[in-house]
Amino acid sequence: MSVHAASAEIASLDSQFADLDLAGRLSLAATLGRAVFTTSLGIEDQVITAAIGTHRLPINVSTLETGRLFKETVDLIAETEERYDIAIERFYPEQDDIDAYAEKFGLNGFYDSVEARHACCHVRKLIPLAKALSGAEVWITGLRRGQSGNRATTPFVEFDAERGLLKVNPLADWDIETIKAHVSAEAIPVNPLHARGYPSIGCEPCTRAIKPGEPERAGRWWWENDEKRECGLHVPDVQATENDAQPVSQASFTANSVR
Ligand code: SF4
Repeated sequence: MSVHAASAEIASLDSQFADLDLAGRLSLAATLGRAVFTTSLGIEDQVITAAIGTHRLPINVSTLETGRLFKETVDLIAETEERYDIAIERFYPEQDDIDAYAEKFGLNGFYDSVEARHACCHVRKLIPLAKALSGAEVWITGLRRGQSGNRATTPFVEFDAERGLLKVNPLADWDIETIKAHVSAEAIPVNPLHARGYPSIGCEPCTRAIKPGEPERAGRWWWENDEKRECGLHVPDVQATENDAQPVSQASFTANSVR
């Protein structure tokens, strides 16, 4: 199928994805063109990586090693590779770009303004993402509708016009309880930070634990007031706000439910 698929074809594909289980969705995605899955090592991404590894699916697994990740996240990359006998390709920022950013904004300048924060995400995430997706026709992500109001209308498949590829979100309709039950049943390795109140984990200086009742992504760039804050990797139509997101209890992220 051409990556320039018409909207009717996208809608038809979306219906096909809806009727499949996760392995079926990933298998279908792999038939649509060269497929790349970018993982942040978050709990939903671990579910996808486990399915790719278990079913030996022809999907490249990549991650953006920003240089500011938690140690727990970095350790999980290696643990996941070993567990599923797969290679997770790391994409790093360019040192020259980091130096230029630090000179202009300061190394931790992202706390000072939204502009500076976006500039840091551009250097450490967006440029490496472009490299990770170079040559890809299908981009698989772990986006879920329940993660935030911004993501409440996430489809199974959409055309990413900016990058010129199909974007497939095979867990779009999974809620966090389903994710946790699956992780527990399959003994999938997950980031130990989840059990310490971090349902969504990004770079260490930009992620805090959430309070009970807060939306899953409330701990990301918490100092910013913009309810629609994202890092620029995913910019879906905004139909709702962060406040509309599905609340998640910090207490529900226990060591028992998410190893
Ligand atoms: S999340 Fe924070 S440290 Fe990571 S790239 Fe964005 S601004 Fe920089």
